[in-house]
Amino acid sequence: MNIDQAYYDAIKQKFAEQRDLRLGYRPEGTTQFTSDFSGGLSKYAVDPYGSELEPRDPIDDFVEVLFIGGGFSALLTSARLRERGVESIRIVERGADVGGTWYWNRYPGVACDVVSYDYLPLLDELDYVPKDHYAKGPEILAHCQAIARKYDLYDLAVFQTTVTSTRWNEDEKLWHLETDRGDRMKARFVICANGTLSKPKLARIDGLESFAGHSFHTSQWDYDYTGASLEKLEDKVVGIIGTGATAVQAIPGLGESAKELYVFQRTPSSIDIREDWPTDPNWARRLKPGWQAKRREQALNPTLTEEQKVIRSASSREESREEKIRRQENANIDYMMRIHRRIEKEVKDEATAEALKPWYMFMCKRPCFHNDYLPSFNRSNVHLVDTQGKGITQITEQGPLFDGRQYQLDLLIYATGFEVQKTGIYNRIVGTGGLDLNDKYDTGVRTLLGVHSVGYPNLFIMGGYQASFQFNLTYILGMQGDHIAECIAYAREHDHQTIDATPDAEEWWVQEVIANRGKTTRNEECTPGYYNFEGEHQRRQDGNYNGGVTRYLAHMDNVQGSMAEHFTFS
Ligand code: NDP
Repeated sequence: MNIDQAYYDAIKQKFAEQRDLRLGYRPEGTTQFTSDFSGGLSKYAVDPYGSELEPRDPIDDFVEVLFIGGGFSALLTSARLRERGVESIRIVERGADVGGTWYWNRYPGVACDVVSYDYLPLLDELDYVPKDHYAKGPEILAHCQAIARKYDLYDLAVFQTTVTSTRWNEDEKLWHLETDRGDRMKARFVICANGTLSKPKLARIDGLESFAGHSFHTSQWDYDYTGASLEKLEDKVVGIIGTGATAVQAIPGLGESAKELYVFQRTPSSIDIREDWPTDPNWARRLKPGWQAKRREQALNPTLTEEQKVIRSASSREESREEKIRRQENANIDYMMRIHRRIEKEVKDEATAEALKPWYMFMCKRPCFHNDYLPSFNRSNVHLVDTQGKGITQITEQGPLFDGRQYQLDLLIYATGFEVQKTGIYNRIVGTGGLDLNDKYDTGVRTLLGVHSVGYPNLFIMGGYQASFQFNLTYILGMQGDHIAECIAYAREHDHQTIDATPDAEEWWVQEVIANRGKTTRNEECTPGYYNFEGEHQRRQDGNYNGGVTRYLAHMDNVQGSMAEHFTFS
């Protein structure tokens, strides 16, 4: 072993120690959070953006396709269904408009970290070029609304309504749905389009309900309290729990506006530079129809120069698997050390800079990109409370109590994230034979392509486990939408009332997911977070498909090309 490798090994050792520290404090994995906002937590279940609920008569009707959720999943699939002549499409949505994530997340500074020309879907169809390299939340929400208008999705949509039960009726071969507004709707096809990160969660902290000040989750930002430009925070002492992607975007604005801001950190995020700029109108003018699809195609299948091909083939032949892993790990550590150096450069106070350094491999947690987050800690009114992996464990009437110090707050903001990729989040899905989907999944998620599950005919799942989301979420949701539209069109063209995956097809896919998950030990080696179920790494099939996006799409193509092999129809 040379000296250089000892350097990398020592850092890896520190990564492992930090992970163990975190796991030691909260060994209970995903159950350290709660999304049950009943009883004393009901104030966290409000919608601050919608108007008062208008009384309305319960709906008792039939539609051909019903979407549970009105975010990008529903919008993208609806567009494809419209192109195939499906007229009867209904979105049922908890919020008061379409948009999903972008309806709820309106915290100050909200923006998307994926380049807008790739992230915002249907740009060709809507003849729209985003305003900036990275789109901000309001522009994305407006784009969602434009899609809904273009494809006439508002006509049948039902907002401020939560689907509570989705039950298969074998005699009618229809889904029967009930909602919290007393509706009883029927649908031939149901698409679970409830999103990947939509149900807010709070950390289970002793005394959570006792805090006497104002508080909310970042996805329910109370602008009445803060003021539209946060101007009402001028005389307020504010605390924020969490330093994930949401907090990183919200903290700069809070730091500028609040009298005092306390940032309660458990694990630091990795923060890289955000290269943003307004879209060049000359570039936008030169774009030809079909540009977005071509751009995505190129990103997925980059053309290599002859020299690059030679370099790649040489390295793959000469390197052993161990050498390759070591090379990749060392490069990853180099990147993280660059992130550390950036912190040292940006943050003046040495102890604060040290506390902001993330000690884990790049991509163990969602990487963040921001130019103003780190400098916020140079402000005299912004205070980092580094809990060194422990997290906040107690809240009193006055605010968080940590390490013997009571933090007296006017406002406490929870930036503690969302439940991850659950299907039917507010809803009980009961399939053939009365089997609840949650009970079926009890011994492990079972799907075909992450989209179909045997025993749930005419039900399609979007954004759920066992699909690949490696490239860009909206792109994959678009591909899932194309696939679902294809399945529905196939059933309609062949006069089939139902389409259900075969048990063999489902078993094949579960095994394919397991085989590809086994390729990496990253889950085990990573510091806990939602990417690895907060350290519950033994959940082998309850995750995304790790075989790569290109292979996932090839499998999807193959399934579409041999429908009779993968599905039963009636
Ligand atoms: P995350 O789940 O990423 O972050 C939750 C935060 O809460 C973590 O920092 C976590 O710490 C912290 N936390 C949990 N419990 C405690 C506790 N007891 N004490 C102190 N801190 C605690 O949620 P976000 O809302 O930030 O992000 C969710 C996802 O939404 C992102 O990963 C991203 O995919 C998406 N998003 C995308 C954006 C974009 O495109 N820019 C912007 C915002 C969100 P720990 O790390 O230790 O668990």
